[in-house]
Amino acid sequence: YAFAMPDLLANLNPEQYAAVTLPDESALIVAGAGSGKTRVLTTRIAWLIEGGRVSPSGILAVTFTNKAAREMMTRLGAMLPINTRGMWIGTFHGLCNRLLRAHHRDAGLPSAFQILDSADQLSAIKRLLKANNIDDEKYPPKNLQYFINGAKEEGLRASRVDANDAFNRRFVELYAMYESQCEREGVVDFAELLLRSYELLDSNRALRAHYQQRFSHILVDEFQDTNRLQYAWLKLLAGEHSAIFAVGDDDQSIYAFRGANVGNMLDFEREFAVRHRIKLEQNYRSHGNILDTANHLISRNSRRLGKDLRTDAGAGEPVRVYEAATDQQEANWIVDEIRALLDQGMSRSEIAILYRSNAQSRVVEHALVAAGVPYKVYGGLRFFERQEVKHALAYLRLIDNPDDDTAFLRVVNFPTRGIGARSLELLSDTARLHQCSLAAAAPLLTGKAGAAVASFMRLIEQVRAETAPLNLPETVEHLLAASGLNTYYEQEREGQERLENLQELVNAAAAFAAEEGYGRDVPARSLPMAPGASAAPALTDDSDAVEVIDAGAPLVRQMTPLAGFLSHASLEAGDNQAQAGQDAVQLMTVHAAKGLEFMAVFISGLEEGLFPHENSAVEIDGLEEERRLMYVAITRARERLYLSFAQSRMLHGQTRYNVRSRFFDELPADTLKWLTPRIEAGARWGGARDNAGWGRDWFAPPSHIETALADKQRAADTGYRTGQTVFHNKFGEGTIIGLEGSGTDARAHVSFQRHGAKWLSLAVAKLQIVD
Ligand code: ATP
Ligand code: MG
Repeated sequence: YAFAMPDLLANLNPEQYAAVTLPDESALIVAGAGSGKTRVLTTRIAWLIEGGRVSPSGILAVTFTNKAAREMMTRLGAMLPINTRGMWIGTFHGLCNRLLRAHHRDAGLPSAFQILDSADQLSAIKRLLKANNIDDEKYPPKNLQYFINGAKEEGLRASRVDANDAFNRRFVELYAMYESQCEREGVVDFAELLLRSYELLDSNRALRAHYQQRFSHILVDEFQDTNRLQYAWLKLLAGEHSAIFAVGDDDQSIYAFRGANVGNMLDFEREFAVRHRIKLEQNYRSHGNILDTANHLISRNSRRLGKDLRTDAGAGEPVRVYEAATDQQEANWIVDEIRALLDQGMSRSEIAILYRSNAQSRVVEHALVAAGVPYKVYGGLRFFERQEVKHALAYLRLIDNPDDDTAFLRVVNFPTRGIGARSLELLSDTARLHQCSLAAAAPLLTGKAGAAVASFMRLIEQVRAETAPLNLPETVEHLLAASGLNTYYEQEREGQERLENLQELVNAAAAFAAEEGYGRDVPARSLPMAPGASAAPALTDDSDAVEVIDAGAPLVRQMTPLAGFLSHASLEAGDNQAQAGQDAVQLMTVHAAKGLEFMAVFISGLEEGLFPHENSAVEIDGLEEERRLMYVAITRARERLYLSFAQSRMLHGQTRYNVRSRFFDELPADTLKWLTPRIEAGARWGGARDNAGWGRDWFAPPSHIETALADKQRAADTGYRTGQTVFHNKFGEGTIIGLEGSGTDARAHVSFQRHGAKWLSLAVAKLQIVD
């Protein structure tokens, strides 16, 4: 076959070649970062199709993020003259969503079921507790959320959870109540997507047989991060005859805290009688020093399957290390280095700044803004999570499914329509009494409250009717006007940015429609047909109707454009449509960087308690997981790697004094180049450092810290102090909760009564002291 397809296989090394061209049987590839696992997986798909071993519809490929899935489709499209759009390539959530859309009836879901993201889920839980007068101090909503998701990921419905004491029994009860609330409202949370589609396949023999036959090849990237339920789902889909091709790296398992289980790899080998465990040992990504640094670090971990990585690339640049006095100084240094790299001709999108937790991005963003360097933050407050965007999406969801109570409550009185808390309580009571959704209870309400809610329902109905013939972006556009959202934000003083985001939502809808191949004349709420395909399948157990989704025929679209767009908004891993394609420095957490690669990588905030994270000290395997996370971070870099830490850092409104991460003691000395003097921990802290714990008993603050303290002092000398009430002519009254920097850099962290906490430059902001 190598002769038949020189292009596909030409550049592979012998191990990669062997992996790509394995016969139709299950295989596991365990290999280190940058060894070409993802590339092998993608190439194998192409090779299978090209050689006629399987049709594109016989492939199911699971990746970890939407971004990775899109990339895989693009690469496949480049290798083969096929349309990858209809292929089943996506995340677990995305694929489950698709399955449930196609078979919603069999899964017991309304056709327009909505997906709750974790914030929606939390508010649904709060609502549940409130409606049932349950003490949320005793049963904190977050804990309940964690409990529910944990149970679902174990594949357990409330009826099957073992509760050994009264407290747990209450949790199980609440879980059951939550389930019926979701059922009533026609919504599913993330974990439910998976559990529901697992149960669908498990209970429906005809359907299961159909998909087992259809997907003869299942391929899984980042296999080390699958949880038990995901693994069970894969097993069910594979059945007796399909081959699972799994690639992963136990050293990059970083989701144990969410139930991922490396043990799946070993189970998989046993249960699928894997004959081939192929190793890839050549790293194609990183220069020698970077790779040595990563290998040295990870060798400290005890629980490893064990593997080696080498590179043909030279040693390259040393890994640069910088110690800053403050987080601001660290950020400024990063920006200086980035400017130097840009001057050398590196493009911005080839540069990434990684950090352990989202809160750390603020100070870096600040420095980038000041220097005028365009950047893009992945994660954090994503586009689809912004307040105004969520409002608009809630309206869209209601148009699609009026029983969605979360959406209902979000906008029933936004913009204000005089529907007060009292009316909503009445409505909730009525709904509870009749075991129905709020929308369904609306007509039962009388009096003034009834009239107000009825007029809201009329509005929804009217928009429904008016948008029936409109395509997706038109629907969004119309809704923004008809709902009153546009007018509301036009009149709001700070509304400009929010208006722009709403307009951006129209663009996002247009981009989505184009990407999915919906024509301009396809109404947003109709189910478009592929040419020649019959209506959406209505499958019942052991009917012959399963033929409808014929493996070879063009895919019937499984969702209306609107439903697709709403799913996309819930599942999207944080890609901001608005900024896609722009050349910008990339900011993200280490978790979000998995699988990606960049020319230059900065890992910032390498401080004890931050990275490794303080929570890891109390968790089993916690430190080893942090080390794997650090291994992931280091191995994202191709040519340049920068490590930095700061002696003091402003986080969550507090200044913390940190010592450098223990990881520095675990990295090889000869690959690192310290740009600031490397001071032995013992010398600095006036005694031996306790490596096992988090102790940082130091006697005298080092000079850097004195500088930081002096900075604070000077900020105070500007006449402001923390605790002071101040007035800002845009944001109104607020309280100073922090001060830092000096001179023109001096800034204050002010908590405003109406606008939340903001960082303001004292030189610019002109804060008036009120008391
Ligand atoms: P990770 O564990 O980080 O996900 P990976 O094992 O999936 O890494 P890939 O992302 O597939 O690795 O490959 C890393 C880089 O090496 C990519 O840029 C890829 O194009 C390149 N690469 C892989 N194999 C080869 C090869 N045989 N020749 C040249 N470049 C290769
Ligand atoms: Mg990969």
